[in-house]
Amino acid sequence: MPLEIRNLTVVYNGKPAIHNITLTVREGVLTGMVGPNGAGKSTLLKAILGLVPRATGEVWLNGRPMDKPRGEIAYVPQRGSVEWDFPVNVLDVVLMGTYARLPIGRRPGRAEREWAMECLRQVELEELWRRQIGELSGGQQQRVFLARALAQDAPVYLLDEPLAGVDAATEGVIMEQLHRLRDRGRIVLMVHHDLQTVRDCFDEVALLNEHLIAVGRVDAVMTPENLQRTYGGKLVFLQDMD
Ligand code: ADP
Repeated sequence: MPLEIRNLTVVYNGKPAIHNITLTVREGVLTGMVGPNGAGKSTLLKAILGLVPRATGEVWLNGRPMDKPRGEIAYVPQRGSVEWDFPVNVLDVVLMGTYARLPIGRRPGRAEREWAMECLRQVELEELWRRQIGELSGGQQQRVFLARALAQDAPVYLLDEPLAGVDAATEGVIMEQLHRLRDRGRIVLMVHHDLQTVRDCFDEVALLNEHLIAVGRVDAVMTPENLQRTYGGKLVFLQDMD
């Protein structure tokens, strides 16, 4: 069953950041979201998660409205939005992904630790499990966040620019894991900053600039007209997209 976003509006200080967004994100499809800085991409993810108030609109999953998700959505926030001085090691961060599945008040045990280590193996980071997260490189931190999301084993994955500023090896690891999630029928929506790689990364793409400009198969959506409507004058050059 898809994730359905219906008429979603978010207002900050009296000014709408996203207007009336209606979007269906299907399972088994890797969906990207692109748009200029300030377009409301992070806001849309946060509104789906219930982290910012919705002025209007609803989010439906499995045919039911969802106010605040309880473990159904795994979220990989922007790396820059996180306090990395927090004294916690890599394995503990990944274990946080298992909390949503545990009965309230139960702490993760041996089975959860083994599962968290398996998720670290998936992102090729198991050797660093004892390290403090603040000591890792940006790419390694991003992998830890992905491992935490994998540990949650959720039906929906929302990722906010996970490829921003990471090395090529990390990019490969992240995309491989996202393809695996897609192939296992998960719902995957990822904010992306690089127009040139949209075609390589995604099956479908949504163009956002406060309003939803277009959504669908990458080839159908990434037209010069749609990109002009999304980026306006900010799109200084438009390389040959073919
Ligand atoms: P994007 O992710 O596309 O760069 P954002 O969702 O971060 O865009 O921001 C959309 C708009 O909302 C921007 O103008 C931003 O300044 C504003 N904004 C984002 N978060 C807040 C907030 N917590 N309070 C007030 N304004 C915000």
